[in-house]
Amino acid sequence: MEPNAQVFVRYGELSLKGGNRAFFERTLKNNLRAALADFGEVKVHGIRGRLLVSAQASGARIAEKCSRVFGVTSVSPAVPALLDVDAITEVARQCAAETIANQFMGKEQVRFRTKVNRAEKRFPLMSRDFEIHLADAIMPEHPQLKVDLSNPELTLEVDVRSEGAWVFSSRLPGPGGLPVGTMGRAFCLLSGGIDSPVAAWMAMKRGMRVEFVSFYSFPHVGPQSREKIITLAEKLAGWQPTTVLHMVPFAEYQEAVRDECPPAYRTVLYRRAMQRISTRIAWRRKGKVLITGESVGQVASQTLENMTVIEEASGLPVLRPLVTFDKTETIQWARAIGTYELSNLPAPDCCTVFQPERPVIYGRIEEAHEAEAFLDVDALTLNALRNTELLRIEA
Ligand code: ATP
Ligand code: MG
Repeated sequence: MEPNAQVFVRYGELSLKGGNRAFFERTLKNNLRAALADFGEVKVHGIRGRLLVSAQASGARIAEKCSRVFGVTSVSPAVPALLDVDAITEVARQCAAETIANQFMGKEQVRFRTKVNRAEKRFPLMSRDFEIHLADAIMPEHPQLKVDLSNPELTLEVDVRSEGAWVFSSRLPGPGGLPVGTMGRAFCLLSGGIDSPVAAWMAMKRGMRVEFVSFYSFPHVGPQSREKIITLAEKLAGWQPTTVLHMVPFAEYQEAVRDECPPAYRTVLYRRAMQRISTRIAWRRKGKVLITGESVGQVASQTLENMTVIEEASGLPVLRPLVTFDKTETIQWARAIGTYELSNLPAPDCCTVFQPERPVIYGRIEEAHEAEAFLDVDALTLNALRNTELLRIEA
């Protein structure tokens, strides 16, 4: 389709009323503009329950970008036409010919239908009559087309509205969910594993703007661990307008735990420190919740008992989008999102540093407090915060 194409964007879940609805629509528009920022001047305007997007790129490229914006349910590159039967029919013929040449070349039979949505009731033809009129104009030129109303491979659609008409022949599914930013800010504890990137994506899908916090135990782990986190953050950054990564140096805290505390509680104490430090970062930046990739029973630190002991150190609610997932389900999501391959790159995580032989499985809050009493928690926390780097991440 030609440059300066227009794309129809459909959205769902905005069943909210009044001011909330306007806020949701405004946020979705802004997020679409941000997603298309590379394409020169972007125009987004609402026409009754849909958005019409245009930019300096082909319809396919615009549609592809829009299909990765949360809140969007489907998108269609569309060709505008004047509100006139002959004009629309001509555009529909061209659109059908182009789609058949691009997508159904050499196919002997193509199941086909036309579909008219007539929002402008003053238009002279009724929907059904116009559908037949269009099919009569298109089908003789393409003998491979065979009418199939219930299971078509190619649907030539026309939207007739008071503002004009639009013709389109494809619907690309969007991710659904809610526009990022409509549900406030969340802080995701991002490790180099498979789980936390999926958890972050799911939080974004439900409208949270996600900032990342990652704990980095240099020099006990090498620079490749840091690079891996940045690469993962870059991948996820494609799903929200702006992305920030807080890189927390964690070696000093871990060394103190190793030197001062009972070995069995090491992992639990690292995790408590992560909650505490992430909470402080979130408080400063209007974060409302923490997000982790934990799922019940997956590893020793994810028993109900240990999750309770770990969460007790947080000053914010902890959301765990994957809490009931099997690993195989998380892996399917990670593949779909495109983080799986990145998570599989070899690089150690700080949690494996100084790992004890027998970590506690059913930890207790009082015991964790006793173990922690050997540390100067405030000083270690402040020092980690003071040396935390804030990185702005581009997709
Ligand atoms: P993941 O695949 O996300 O690493 P996991 O199954 O390996 O998860 P754990 O290593 O026990 O689980 O980590 C549980 C959660 O704690 C992670 O999902 C993540 O949210 C957080 N976490 C672990 N290590 C770090 C880290 N180095 N920096 C930030 N968050 C971390
Ligand atoms: Mg991990």
